Amino acid sequence: MSAADDKPEHDLGSLLSLEGKTAVVTGGSGGIGSVTVEHLLMAGAEVYCIDLEGKSAPGSAIFKACDFSDPEQIANTMEEIHDEVGGFDILVHCAGITRDRVLWKMSDEDWDAVLEVNLDSAFFLLRAAIPFFRERGDGRVVLISSINGERGKLGQANYAASKAGLIALGKTAARELGRFGVRVNCISPGLIRTRMVAELPEEVLEKARQEIVLGKEGDPKDVAHAVLFLCSDMSAHITGQVLRVDGGQWMA
Ligand code: NAD
Repeated sequence: MSAADDKPEHDLGSLLSLEGKTAVVTGGSGGIGSVTVEHLLMAGAEVYCIDLEGKSAPGSAIFKACDFSDPEQIANTMEEIHDEVGGFDILVHCAGITRDRVLWKMSDEDWDAVLEVNLDSAFFLLRAAIPFFRERGDGRVVLISSINGERGKLGQANYAASKAGLIALGKTAARELGRFGVRVNCISPGLIRTRMVAELPEEVLEKARQEIVLGKEGDPKDVAHAVLFLCSDMSAHITGQVLRVDGGQWMA
């Protein structure tokens, strides 16, 4: 065998390249979402950043306002993107909220708000995206879950249930869509330094930090790197998985 036979089929750069792909990132103006948008742009994708009215898109991404608690707005936004660029290949669902209360103090509104934005919207987005993916014979979906969706968390019944639901939704979608060339994976971040965690009480943060095997909270780019991997051809044979980006904060 000659040295040439040992050469990889593609160079590493082309395996990570998203040139010619269109990506939609929900919650793309947030801490993890905005860094994810930047990474997808760097990889050559055209990127739609979708977030609440009044927010903005990083770099050259195209901003669209949409409230993910409203199914009609989600359907309209998906249709607009289809009309503008004929669909998309990549969906990263990053939008998410918390409304923490212990179960006995949690209102119906706290429960519904978190389930609507975190989980219901993923169902509406995926269902709307499937015809685009089938048309292209390609699709890469990454749902941002949380380690608290896998282990439960005091004060987060609504949030943990929504994030566990994303994992079940993602695995089911992976089973149903594999035959059309669509891959669906989840990422479970642990504590990542963003506005969402800045609002937590210091003692909760300190306890979380003590759980992290690598000794420090994660940076949004740690999650963005995992998203890029799961959206690229580097992960061509990976679907239905949950990738924890948590510095070892929670090991099953
Ligand atoms: P963030 O608050 O910075 O970003 C969330 C984004 O979602 C914001 O830009 C916000 O405007 C958007 N959003 C909220 N409600 C919306 C709605 N109704 N319609 C449209 N957009 C809406 O938070 P983050 O820390 O960057 O979190 C991003 C994702 O990562 C979330 O799904 C979160 O649950 C998950 N996560 C974060 C951590 C962490 O430690 N930061 C850990 C685990 C999982």
